[in-house]
This record gives sequence, structure tokens and C-alpha cells, in this order.
Amino acid sequence: MFGAIEAGGTKFVCAMGTGPEDVVLSAEIPTTTPEETMAGVATFFAGKKLKRVGIACFGPVDLAGGRIAKTTPKVAWRGFGIQAAVEQALRAKTVLDTDVNGAALGEYLWGAGQGVDPLLYVTVGTGIGGGGVVDGKLLHGLLHPEMGHVRVPRVDAAPGICFAHGDCLEGLASGPAIAARGSDYELAAEYLGMAMQIYTCVLSPRMVLLGGGVMKRPGMLGKVRAAAKRYMAGYAPMPEIRAPKFGQRAGTLGALALAVRG
Ligand SMILES: [Zn+2]
Repeated sequence: MFGAIEAGGTKFVCAMGTGPEDVVLSAEIPTTTPEETMAGVATFFAGKKLKRVGIACFGPVDLAGGRIAKTTPKVAWRGFGIQAAVEQALRAKTVLDTDVNGAALGEYLWGAGQGVDPLLYVTVGTGIGGGGVVDGKLLHGLLHPEMGHVRVPRVDAAPGICFAHGDCLEGLASGPAIAARGSDYELAAEYLGMAMQIYTCVLSPRMVLLGGGVMKRPGMLGKVRAAAKRYMAGYAPMPEIRAPKFGQRAGTLGALALAVRG
């Protein structure tokens, strides 16, 4: 049995299983302080024998140090050594990655991008994040991809709401950014289309899975596809851009995928 922890900004979701068909238990624990939240995690897994535990964590994450990065806007969690904390509490080996890299792996192993390589997974919700599988491995390097924070050419003059950059993609096209300027989804689709074209030029994915709350809006996926194609301007092919399979379960199954893959 493998353990899965989706460490999100508002809640932690814990589960166990070996794949999407046999997730046997799951619990939601509110994200408050690290001490309180980790106590909830420990209670959930108490007495369970786990081969490995995957942690799919909100970013940015210092993967080498097993810590949540000091630049996270979630002040109480800055620098928190989540990997060691889970290993101590659960007495199990862990695999730590970003929530979006986890989701990319889950979709690659079991979902809408099964065996497609390179595969990108991008989510547009309260933030924008992206992960990817390249040559069968999750994309890591200096840190991990931070696809939501690329800058895109401006077609309006709003300042944007990213706490670090103002008008990066997340600052312009995440859910709160769209809400901040009168729910202009057409404009958001333009910016997301630009980003898809940028990701395609840089990483040459064979497929992009585009999920998250904003993408659930009827017609949004088609608008982003059309904008991406327009910005590519026939120069190179655009990969298939489609919805991920796991939707709400992407994070939890991503964490499980990290554990199973090891
Ligand atoms: Zn930003």
C-alpha cells in the first residue's frame, strides 16, 4: 500500500492505494499551521503500513532540501521541512514534488496523457502552475518549472495581481486575476493562449493537459486552443490541448503517482 498527501494551500488530502481504481481511504485536513496540519496527517495514517508516501505540495518547493520555499506567500509554512516531518510522523520513505508535477505524472501513468512524452500539465485556478514529464521523468532542474510566472505580451493595461511580479501570467489569467478585472474570460483566454504557444516553442510537448477551476468554464478550452493556434501563426504545429482526466482528484492521484513511481 502507498500513501498520498496532496499538500494544498487550503487543505491537505490524504489517501492510500496503488492506483486510481483502488484509493481506499481519504481525509481532508484544513491547512492551518504546520504543527496542527501535520498532526492531522499523522492521525490519518496512524497504524498504516506504507511502502512509500508521495507528497504533492503547493509551491514553490525546495526539492533538494525537502522544504517549502521561503518565498511562499503562506507565511506560516515558509521554510517548513515537510519531507522530514512526514518521514518522522509516518516512518515511511517519501517522494516530494510539486502538486503540478505530481498531477503530470498521474496523468502520464493513468490518465489523459498516458504514455505521451513530453507531456505538460497546466492548471489555472487560484494560481497557475505547470509540470511536465520529459523522457519519462518529471521535469526538474535549478528548481522545478514555474510555468505560471512567465511574462506574456500585454494586450490590456491592468497591473496584474501576482504578489511577486504583478503582470506575469498568473497575475493576469488566474481565477482571482480574472475576477479582479470584471471576469473578462476572453482576455484571460488570450493570455493563456500566448502561454501555450510559449510552452510549445520551449519544451515541444506532444500534449498539454489544461485543467483547474478556470478551465471548467464552458467554451474556455476552445478559446485557449484558438488563441494558441493564432499566436503560433502556422509556424509550427500546436500540440493537442485537452482536459486532464482526473479533475478534482489530480492532486491526490498525483501524490499517489509519486509514491508508486518512487
Ligand atoms: Zn508571478
